[in-house]
Amino acid sequence: MKTSKLVTIDHHIANEKSLHPYSTGEFSALLHDIALAIRIISREVRRAGLNEMFGLTGEENPNGDKVRKLDKFANEIIKNLILQNGNVCCIASEEEKDLVYAINGENAKYILVYDPLDGSTNIDVNVTIGSIFSIYRRLDDTIPVNINNDVLQCGMKQVAAGYALYGSSTIFVYTTGNGVNVFTYDPTLGEFFLTQKNLKIPSSGNIYSCNEGNYYNWKPNVRKFVDYLKGANGNERSYMLRYIASGVADIHRTLLYGGIYLYPEDTSHPTGKFRLVYEANALAMIAEQAGGKATDGKQRILEIKPTSIHQTTPLIIGSIDEVNLYEKYYRNEINL
Ligand code: MN
Ligand code: MN
Repeated sequence: MKTSKLVTIDHHIANEKSLHPYSTGEFSALLHDIALAIRIISREVRRAGLNEMFGLTGEENPNGDKVRKLDKFANEIIKNLILQNGNVCCIASEEEKDLVYAINGENAKYILVYDPLDGSTNIDVNVTIGSIFSIYRRLDDTIPVNINNDVLQCGMKQVAAGYALYGSSTIFVYTTGNGVNVFTYDPTLGEFFLTQKNLKIPSSGNIYSCNEGNYYNWKPNVRKFVDYLKGANGNERSYMLRYIASGVADIHRTLLYGGIYLYPEDTSHPTGKFRLVYEANALAMIAEQAGGKATDGKQRILEIKPTSIHQTTPLIIGSIDEVNLYEKYYRNEINL
């Protein structure tokens, strides 16, 4: 570690305060709390085989997914930490059917939405997993929270978005609309240090990432696009395939190396699989802030007006060139 320019996440949050109109004391405190929750989750993830954190709880979440012990633990840590400190009026989580309100939080300005653990089927096999979050500001904090106006805002209204990855190291990636910064956790010090400033995605790449087991369940145009990536339809180079099946980890790699990640609609997921409110919007904001693009094929993810907390969307995200080409295929603008 270079010791000449050590920037901790706390230092960085304080610096950003001056750059962002929303960076009130509560906003900074909320980011501090999220970073603390990530540290606690990271500790449990690192010991998951020792602390009886592998396996299922026997419950199902609001989306019908089998809940794993770490899903539940991560949800409780974030929920309890964030709600106790009075900086949000409510939270929405993948593991909670409805909004959960903070006691005495009626006038708090912010709302946190999150996926406590993404890629949780990878927990028991020691493959990278992550956490995803977005922060919204309430339109009017003098009247009771209105789910439609305050929580279900379109992604363009996010005031911050980020994710953590529990991989070969634990990292924390976030944006408040002034570019994307990456912090790496030093567990011996309990600190996140800035390791990548103003992350930018290449405008084109040579990797694609998708669950190709769904190939015959995709629309014909999506199949043609993936055929192109593999060297058909006049493509003179073939792309490499990489697929971890933790969306946040696959998308992180896509941001670093360029290329495309796609989870389009298929016959068993006719409206896609990603959760718009607490997964796709955060990832789309990060991608756009890094100079990339995120679409459902028809429109920009950040412009979709959500109608429910747990609604799903197709998600196609990555380098401008590949995402633009996907849209051309999807919209039938390519003549083969
Ligand atoms: Mn998820
Ligand atoms: Mn999850």
